[in-house]
Amino acid sequence: MANVIIWFRRDLRLADNPALTHAVEQGHSVLPLYIQDPDSRWQPGAASRWWLHHSLSHLQRRLHRSGAELVIKRGDPAQILTELGQKYAIDEVLWNRLYDPDTVGRDGDIKGALIDAGIATRSFNASLLLEPWQLLKSDGGPYRVFTPFWKTLQRHLAESAAPLAAPERIRGLTVDKDDGIALDTLGLLPDLPWDEGLHKNWHPGETGAHSRLQAALDGPLLHYPTQRDHPDRAGTSRLSPHLHYGELSPRQIWYAVRAWAAANTGGGVVMAADAYLRQLAWREFAHHLLYHFPETAVAPLDARFAHYPWVKDFADDLHAWQQGRTGIPIVDAGMRELWQTGWMHNRVRMIAASFLTKNLRIHWLEGARWFWDTLVDADLANNTMGWQWVAGCGADAAPYFRIFNPILQSERFDPDGNYLRQWLPELAALPKAWIHQPFSAPTEVLDAAGVELGQTYPQPLVELSASREAALAAWAEIKGLSRT
Ligand code: FAD
Repeated sequence: MANVIIWFRRDLRLADNPALTHAVEQGHSVLPLYIQDPDSRWQPGAASRWWLHHSLSHLQRRLHRSGAELVIKRGDPAQILTELGQKYAIDEVLWNRLYDPDTVGRDGDIKGALIDAGIATRSFNASLLLEPWQLLKSDGGPYRVFTPFWKTLQRHLAESAAPLAAPERIRGLTVDKDDGIALDTLGLLPDLPWDEGLHKNWHPGETGAHSRLQAALDGPLLHYPTQRDHPDRAGTSRLSPHLHYGELSPRQIWYAVRAWAAANTGGGVVMAADAYLRQLAWREFAHHLLYHFPETAVAPLDARFAHYPWVKDFADDLHAWQQGRTGIPIVDAGMRELWQTGWMHNRVRMIAASFLTKNLRIHWLEGARWFWDTLVDADLANNTMGWQWVAGCGADAAPYFRIFNPILQSERFDPDGNYLRQWLPELAALPKAWIHQPFSAPTEVLDAAGVELGQTYPQPLVELSASREAALAAWAEIKGLSRT
């Protein structure tokens, strides 16, 4: 029996939390700790901070009910862990590993500092199905192509251990009241009340995560292969923010989906489960890529793109894109969904990102920054891979010349225009034949729908085919260069 600190980071849950389970099984006295590190480079954006506040509040209540009090601190983690360690005669600090490059480096330093102070450390895998060094090609190198990665991942997971149950009781270590600060003092909530849409759409915390998973199993999962690309339907699980903050582990999802497939024998169940888990594996792929190619959070994986002629004078176009005022309805609907709910459908993320990086030729990092600030699921690995994939400079990216046509995408994936009508009320009265491209509609159709281009809804920022040609010409300038 020992005194231990469980250092919570992005594993804000009690179930399937190997660090916590280890401590409880050993009969240790536990000091649960969360540290806000003001010096970390990747501070969460505004929407993500909102999520974090509510997730921590939920964790605090769950821990309290189980017998332990969450201590919240702000400052340098090495110093805080060492000071608390010495004050409370801590034998060991336990945490679950994260894999982004800055955290890997920082955790290594902290481990050294704690060992110097006579405090042991122990870490676990809780946020990935397999760790980046466990899933390598036969030549020992990391995968850069998804399909073989996915095949190998499935083979490895065929016989892996089941998720851990939440401990019923935690032996909490008693700490002085003034050792922690109130959650509110972390300043995670917005000063201005713009978060109404977030409250309406989300329930951060472990309980909300499990309800969302159950709702996916009861609902969209069966039709996932055919519905997941349709933004006009609730065809996906919306688990991404819960996964980002580790309110649910990918292993729990993997097992729940496999159990669901085994218990349901209808046609298409196995295919649906595979299609869903394949998407979950993209998350794995992203985290492995960032671990192996740490510079890609700010630099292209394909080095040719360091020479791509991105436009330099882009402030007005970027602003219009951020506000959902580009004049391309599917892009604008997505950007407004993002602003109002903190989330955007994956298909629309791809279309909006393609429009920014290819039709407007604005650097992918500008888009990634905006997503970072506005997404409730903002995640360095997923966001980096998503943006680099769309921009054409990442792993397994589609050939550059396959540039999305946002109008065809809109007609295909939102055929009745219901998604567009939801987010663009000023176009709601347009018939479905014209709502995807109001700029081509006859004047009498626009008049009848009360749409005045340039007044009630913008003219397109760029002409789609001319901007596509310009992107291809820009690509021609760099495609002969070396990729490394
Ligand atoms: P579901 O379809 O229900 O999928 C289940 C889970 O699988 C998701 O929660 C997610 O964890 C994972 N997943 C699904 N698709 C992808 C994918 N393409 N890449 C990686 N993981 C995936 N996802 C984030 O979590 N954070 C981001 O910051 C982020 N930024 C993105 C930026 C761009 C430009 C693009 C194109 C995609 C981005 N994605 C990001 C990936 C994807 O859009 C979201 O994970 C997905 O829309 C989340 O919705 P869901 O939970 O309903 O997904």
